[in-house]
Amino acid sequence: MTKKILSFDIDNTLNEPKMPIFPEMAKLLAELSQKYIIAPISGQKYDQFLIQIINNLPETTKLENFHLFVAQGTQYYAYKGGAWHQIFNFALTQEQADAIMGALEKAARELGYWDESVLAPGDEINENRESMIAYSAIGQKAGVEAKQAWDPDMTKRNKIAKLAKEYAPAYEFEVAGTTTINGFVPGQNKEFGMNHLMEELGVTRDEILYFGDMTQEGGNDYPVVQMGIETITVRDWQETAAVLQALLYMEA
Ligand SMILES: [Mg+2]
Repeated sequence: MTKKILSFDIDNTLNEPKMPIFPEMAKLLAELSQKYIIAPISGQKYDQFLIQIINNLPETTKLENFHLFVAQGTQYYAYKGGAWHQIFNFALTQEQADAIMGALEKAARELGYWDESVLAPGDEINENRESMIAYSAIGQKAGVEAKQAWDPDMTKRNKIAKLAKEYAPAYEFEVAGTTTINGFVPGQNKEFGMNHLMEELGVTRDEILYFGDMTQEGGNDYPVVQMGIETITVRDWQETAAVLQALLYMEA
């Protein structure tokens, strides 16, 4: 089946966590945007999609072919008439946001994984991303190496997520990124995002090729795999770049 959409997780799939994409990746995405719809989907907020991806793309990029599925696809942005527009946003109510943030904090504190003293100025552990809450153990702004060293086998986060679920059983908690746990309304994971992507873009699952690094059970890319969308599991952005090179080469 010919693919029309290339959909990507962001952290560790297109870039190093929370860092701008490298020029090599920017060039590949620009080339691919001439032929494909490029649809990043990640737990990150809209600003980070711009900082990490969009602002680094060369002028030749066809931005009309970029579709941004923010906060696991609970928010959707498209580029029309020379500007980005929010098409939808499934925002949490204040009550929902408080319940999720409260459970994450209580669970992390109890397990000894809530330490505000390590945060950079102005940083926070729980971030309200409107339609999703993200717990980042040592803050959003911590360095890549510190983040990667914090919980490489996900043991700490699996424990926190499990306990948070006990404190707020009405919500879902999912391990993501390097130090992150996403908290959200049940069902609003990447499957929700991908279903909306297919609806908005008028495509079937067979027309999508997805790239992600957390495709194992419990990982935030796993719901996409479970949907039966063809998925390429990568370890880092270099592996993604190699596959994209091959894709361009096959077509040339
Ligand atoms: Mg990732």
